Amino acid sequence: MDLFNIDLFKQLTPQTTLLTPNSRLSAALLKKHHAWQISQDKRCWPRVDILPFPSFLQRLWRNFIASSIVETPLLLTPNQEQLIWEKILRQSAESDYLIKLSHTAELAKSAWITLKEWRVDLNNAALGTTEDSCIFQKWALEFEQLCKRENWLDSSGLANAICEKILTGEITPPEKIILTGFTEISPQHQYLLDVCVKAGSSITIFEPEKIDNITHRISLTDEETELQTMARWAKSILHLYPDKTIGCIIPNLKKLRDRALQIFSDVFSAEDTYTTDHILLPFNISAGKKLSAYPIIHTALQLLNIHPKPLSINTLSGLLRSPFLGEAEREISQRARFENTLRRNNVSNISLEKLMSEKSHFDFSRDCPAFASRIQKYLDTLPDTSQLLPTSTWVTIFDQQLTALGWPGERSLNSAEYQVVKNAWLTLLTEYAACDTVLGPLNYQQALHYLTYLATKVMFQPQSPEGAPIQLLGALEAADLSFDYLWVMGLDDTTWPPIPKPNPFIPQRLQKALQMPHATAERELVYCQRLTEQFTRSAKQIVFSHALHNDKAELRPSPIIATATTVTLEQILLADFAPPSQKIYATRTMEYIQDDIAPPIQANERISGGSHIFKLQAACPFKAFAELRLQAKKIDEPTLGLMAKDRGNIIHKAMEMVWSKLNDKTTLDQQDDEALMTIVTDSVEHALSLDTSNALKNTRYRKLESLRLQKLLLTWLEKEKARPHFTVIALEEKRETIIGNIPLTLRVDRIDKLDNGRQLIIDYKTGKNNSFDAWFSDRPDEPQLPLYCLTDPDKTIGILFAQINAEKMKWDGVSELTLDIDSVKTIDKVKYTDANNWKEQIAQWQTTLQKIGTDFSNGNATVDPKDSVETCRHCHLHAFCRIHESSEL
Ligand code: SF4
Repeated sequence: MDLFNIDLFKQLTPQTTLLTPNSRLSAALLKKHHAWQISQDKRCWPRVDILPFPSFLQRLWRNFIASSIVETPLLLTPNQEQLIWEKILRQSAESDYLIKLSHTAELAKSAWITLKEWRVDLNNAALGTTEDSCIFQKWALEFEQLCKRENWLDSSGLANAICEKILTGEITPPEKIILTGFTEISPQHQYLLDVCVKAGSSITIFEPEKIDNITHRISLTDEETELQTMARWAKSILHLYPDKTIGCIIPNLKKLRDRALQIFSDVFSAEDTYTTDHILLPFNISAGKKLSAYPIIHTALQLLNIHPKPLSINTLSGLLRSPFLGEAEREISQRARFENTLRRNNVSNISLEKLMSEKSHFDFSRDCPAFASRIQKYLDTLPDTSQLLPTSTWVTIFDQQLTALGWPGERSLNSAEYQVVKNAWLTLLTEYAACDTVLGPLNYQQALHYLTYLATKVMFQPQSPEGAPIQLLGALEAADLSFDYLWVMGLDDTTWPPIPKPNPFIPQRLQKALQMPHATAERELVYCQRLTEQFTRSAKQIVFSHALHNDKAELRPSPIIATATTVTLEQILLADFAPPSQKIYATRTMEYIQDDIAPPIQANERISGGSHIFKLQAACPFKAFAELRLQAKKIDEPTLGLMAKDRGNIIHKAMEMVWSKLNDKTTLDQQDDEALMTIVTDSVEHALSLDTSNALKNTRYRKLESLRLQKLLLTWLEKEKARPHFTVIALEEKRETIIGNIPLTLRVDRIDKLDNGRQLIIDYKTGKNNSFDAWFSDRPDEPQLPLYCLTDPDKTIGILFAQINAEKMKWDGVSELTLDIDSVKTIDKVKYTDANNWKEQIAQWQTTLQKIGTDFSNGNATVDPKDSVETCRHCHLHAFCRIHESSEL
């Protein structure tokens, strides 16, 4: 037991109340006091009164209410207060201009609390000096009047109410009050203490004596290294001294919580004696995360919100994949398939009614019967959402709806999920049910809005085992706690002290004059100096650390820790640590298995893909194998308008229609503007009428798309007019062939017959970067046109891309003889091939494509991208082929 606590404990009598700034310090002191008594062989001792200041105020008030015979104001909970502020701002004239209304409500509430704590009257003239403070003043007066009218008492007014009752003798303060651990006392609390003194209390501030300690300072590369080094240091101390307490202070804990938790879990779970379940790890983190950020609660809120607005594909995908719905495990495959169907059909949002409708394009009830039946139950129990009901009734309805949907799922919850539901969610619902008085009757959407809002404000951390030896704390929570060993990180010159952050609703001059929190750099400096002093009293061995740089700049140590002795990494105790992946890799015994050959294609194996098979196999054999034989295809990302592939199909169809009417160049040339316009318009309208995309059901969008296509086609036809005479002899013609043992059905966009009797194969492209160089090399990027060419090489004189793109319209291709078409070259002028003439080129394509086809049909599935940067950049299979791992080996 250290001297710090004994000196304090000796002053505690049954008439004394010991006040601390937070419950963590109260609990620690209470625990130590018990240990101190036991160490003196005592078996029982008088109860000591140790509690945080806010609880002290609430106790005085509760006792007063219990003894009062007159009606007393209702003390609001913090959540009720927040809801009232949110409601006031939402109903204010300014609500339309507030982009982040909830955040503004928080700032307004914070300004209100600060003014109360600094004893500034709302009618203070300074509050009328800026536009923001005038608006705030209006909201605050509304809050004040509302509380008065309804006889409510908010927590920041509690101290004032108690002062009044002490002065009238209705509340008797404790005989003796000791304060410890306070970095500062607000004027409001100081006034309350003064009133207590007037009423006969004695007040003492206990400051523990300075202890001899060793304080070191260390510079580390960055924040990540700081966290990792701190974790390794804590682990090494724990190994050497298992019964000692270790504090790890992270001033920016709110922001770094998840990263800190991850790094500490990695460092400690790398040890055999711990498991990866953080419940069994020897540390406890004080910061929680938003209740709404826990997946189980996120799903609950999403489920309550599935009606009446249409569901976006992302929300519906999340629900189809969520384990927190009824029958989620049993129906997992059907739900995945259904999601894929929606995506393929470019469904970017869908209403529940449409999803359930028998006339719907999709058969939800057939594909996901259990989910559909849950939704049906939900819809059957859905009340009239426009009726105004108290929050307590809405809470019951929400509960019924979640039950109808099978939330929280069929699998057993893990410990953290169980705690989130039982300790946080149910508590929140209970508290929300009691908000009738502050919110009044609400409709469904309003009730859900306020519940969601509270779920984003409530912070929750599942409990760790009692007495974890390592505590990860924020700076304020750690003040005056004592440890055997302490590490404080993040003490660089930009963070400690932090940049001032005055509240925008209180004029800066007023904040500066009264030295309000975060008002000026000087105040932040003094405050951080005091906190640092408290840290140095907290342990005998202390390490202060800072990063040498962050994303933006080089960093230096904070001047506040400049006097601490500098140490290097070699001078401090550090446990060995390697990330789990490295540890596994280090213990590897390599076994080489040649597994790049898949079974050859069987006679009864159906492979579809046409020329796409050759394109994929040429780009990367594994990609072709994965996508075409294992069906490891990328899921579609629905868009608001037409999908790119649908746009392409519509243009193809429209061009087919145009040339089925025009037939040849002479007819094209004979059309006057009006006639051509009619042909193009009819063709485009016909092509659009064949497309069933949802996007085209929007008349305005359809009209715009029609106009865009008409313009595009008319511009393209001007390019056709510039060509020598031709006759279109085939449109969307099917051709069958076998190349490299692969039976292929190819569809040629268009074949023109030239005046010399030879044929030109044309392929429409709607992208803008098409070039004939993609047809050459032994791994051609676009083997489609060479494949078409091989179906009838003797008659074919050339192959062409027709790039119909608003930004760049062009022909691009190669031919045997000069064709008098822009950008079309004869084969002898093409630098990408060594063929001297058309015949040689045909032979080369025959050999190349034969080999690619044979490789595919023989099962060649090697991870061998044509270009490991470019080819892999556009591929979604990285995690499957593990290309990055193989390049690291
Ligand atoms: S990521 Fe690269 S190596 Fe892997 S399958 Fe795709 S293209 Fe081939």
